[in-house]
Amino acid sequence: MAVWTKPDQAAPDLTVVPRFTRAGMVDVPRDRLPANPMLPQTAYQVVLDEVMLDGNARFNLATFVTTWMDDEADRLYAATVDKNMVDKDEYPQTAEIESRCVRMLADLWHAPDAAVSVGTSTTGSSEGCMLAGMALKRRWQQARRAAGASTDRPNIVMGGNVQVVWEKFANYWEVEPRYVPLEGDVLHLTEEHLLDYVDENTIGVVAVLGSTMDGSYEPVEAICRVLDEHEAATGVAVPVHVDAASGGFIAPFVQPDLVWDFQLPRVVSIQSSGHKFGLVYPGVGWVLWRDTEHLPEDLVFHVNYLGGDMPTFALNFSRPGAQVVLQYYQFLRLGFEGYREVQQACQDVARHLGDALRRMPEYEVITDGSELPVVTFRVADHVTLFDVFDMSRKLRERGWLVPAYTMPPNREDLAVLRLVVRNGFSHDMAELFLRDLATATEWMDDLSAPMPSEEQPSGFHH
Ligand SMILES: *Cc1c(COP(=O)(O)O)cnc(C)c1O
Repeated sequence: MAVWTKPDQAAPDLTVVPRFTRAGMVDVPRDRLPANPMLPQTAYQVVLDEVMLDGNARFNLATFVTTWMDDEADRLYAATVDKNMVDKDEYPQTAEIESRCVRMLADLWHAPDAAVSVGTSTTGSSEGCMLAGMALKRRWQQARRAAGASTDRPNIVMGGNVQVVWEKFANYWEVEPRYVPLEGDVLHLTEEHLLDYVDENTIGVVAVLGSTMDGSYEPVEAICRVLDEHEAATGVAVPVHVDAASGGFIAPFVQPDLVWDFQLPRVVSIQSSGHKFGLVYPGVGWVLWRDTEHLPEDLVFHVNYLGGDMPTFALNFSRPGAQVVLQYYQFLRLGFEGYREVQQACQDVARHLGDALRRMPEYEVITDGSELPVVTFRVADHVTLFDVFDMSRKLRERGWLVPAYTMPPNREDLAVLRLVVRNGFSHDMAELFLRDLATATEWMDDLSAPMPSEEQPSGFHH
């Protein structure tokens, strides 16, 4: 609650009051709408000062999400923040730009016919996953009903390492989640035990291109192969959705020979986060289906109250259009070669970090940035004085935000630190980080050094 002191005083002249005096206000409103307005300059300062405590996004090595864009992008953002993506009839050019982005991604991900591909922008990968999952469920229901079979018990199969969005999908849309557990050093879904979890009630398999846990790629091609064999043997066709939240904007540029996308006929849909390695500020994502057949028409709503006939397949109605404009800006600004250079630079920095960590005896590298530009490492067994959680806290003193966490079930014994290298995390910053990590490690080691008195041979004192 705002506390106003000196209520009996004459109201100050707000046009001349120095900003930080806040005209007698000692506490900002926190629980109830303030009764009166304040100067915009004052409100601006109050809010800006408060969010300063969040720390610097550029030192945030925890997030996959974009924290830096060109000045021109910032200006374009400011010029388009008022666009509502749903007003397609009112803002036809923004709608057209969205379609162009979908076609460019369909081409990048090798859709059989990019000109008639179907897809949409979303608020992020999570919404894309929900839409793709709903399409899988609806197609499975339609096929089951057509065959006179029960639709009571749908399930979805995925690795124990999936991002939380897939747990949400299963929960919200009442689909049984079947997690294939991690095994040994393999920290993601593989083709190996997959078929033990698949049956005629499986609406689809989720393959992750770029595991959130360690940045590793799941073998999409091998996963599709065993499902091809399964279909040949049993007649049960199980489709694959690729969760390429991060990898959708890395693999085409950095691992162009990797086969993971619509080149595989079993891959029916792909989603990716424009606001991760798509290099746009939060929140934009993309979801595409290989063709109209895989997006059931009865999920698409047609509304006319904004004028025209507008098909929508989305969870939200209104949402920001500026991020879609920014995605198109990045496509024009960078082109294929520019994206390749940016992502390759991220990978070079990640691999450099991985190499440097290998030379530090306190750490063991789990993933070294050769798939996603993500490095995960653990504290070596012989180190007993600190763990990854201590190091994560220690690094915060210098402003670095590096998350520490344990792996999913079956490998909960493994606790790691994770570094995500994004556009804007330069070689220079990596050097600064490594220097701070070395200093912090030394400090942790020293904490346990024996106290001077204990170092003396016994009997020396007194
Ligand atoms: C980040 C991520 C998501 C969720 O994406 P948002 O864009 O943050 O909604 C889903 N899957 C994977 C693999 C991710 O890395």
